Amino acid sequence: MLNVQNLTFSYQKTPILKGVSFEAKLGENLAIIGESGSGKSTLLKVLYGEYDLNEGQIFWKENEILGPKYNLVVGYDFMKYVAQEFDLMPFISVEENIGKFLSNFYPEGKKERTAELLKVVELEDFANTKVKTLSGGQKQRVALARALAKEPEIILLDEPFSHIDNFKKQSLRRSLFKYLKEKNITCIVASHDKEDVLGFADNIIVLDQKKIVAHNTTETLFKNPKSPLISSFFGEFNLIDGQIVYAHQLKVVEKSNLKATVIESYFQGHYYLIEADLNGEKVFFEHEHSLKNGIEVYLSITMSG
Ligand code: ADP
Ligand code: MG
Repeated sequence: MLNVQNLTFSYQKTPILKGVSFEAKLGENLAIIGESGSGKSTLLKVLYGEYDLNEGQIFWKENEILGPKYNLVVGYDFMKYVAQEFDLMPFISVEENIGKFLSNFYPEGKKERTAELLKVVELEDFANTKVKTLSGGQKQRVALARALAKEPEIILLDEPFSHIDNFKKQSLRRSLFKYLKEKNITCIVASHDKEDVLGFADNIIVLDQKKIVAHNTTETLFKNPKSPLISSFFGEFNLIDGQIVYAHQLKVVEKSNLKATVIESYFQGHYYLIEADLNGEKVFFEHEHSLKNGIEVYLSITMSG
């Protein structure tokens, strides 16, 4: 179990994280979300022991994670970290990059393990390709496989799919997170993309103003976002009489006391996002077809779903 107690950290004078405490269970997928600059990457680096804390303690099981002042070689065998910027060895192949961290003692085992990892990150066809010729997304996948090579107990992932194109993203997310669950590897994943989180994270931590402002299950946070910051992570939303209402919770009805004027319709695939004016405020709702600019519609809030 990961146990973070009252962590305060600053690069220079002003703290980036202040009084941060949380736990993550064995095998848990915990997402860290927050706006750009909220300290997600900093938190992961600190968890990895890259920096000394100003205050607080971090434990993985009974091991205390110590910064460079107390631990000369950064990192521990039980913990792996995949940075937003990954560094690989460019002049050797994908297979060799992954294998670098595996023992040569059992060549057969090493081959099998490498093949298994190539499958998880969907790079089977690139085993013998030199890393320097890969795209950014492919390199990111090699970095993931390499971090998994010597099966860690906990893995820290910083925006792990940010360089990967949409064609591959969904299947890679499923493959990677399924693998981590199967192996019961604890996963702390920093992201600003709800697609990395919905469907995968057991729990979410929201960072804002140096602190954890929410920590709950993914479903609870989605259904009861508590603040505009949290709802904005999940999708388009409105504040109507102080209540947070997602665009999909606002429906066109025959008659109601919410009369809006359509401003614009945006094609979204299986629905249109409609921008409208409600008593001088912009509102967004979903509708199955586009609506003519300028027409008036009545809206109703349906909090189910
Ligand atoms: P996020 O990953 O959520 O975008 P970061 O952890 O990268 O946020 O950054 C949090 C804050 O820490 C930002 O204000 C950033 O400018 C600052 N910061 C990040 N890295 C350093 C560093 N090496 N030295 C000084 N300040 C830093
Ligand atoms: Mg970051």
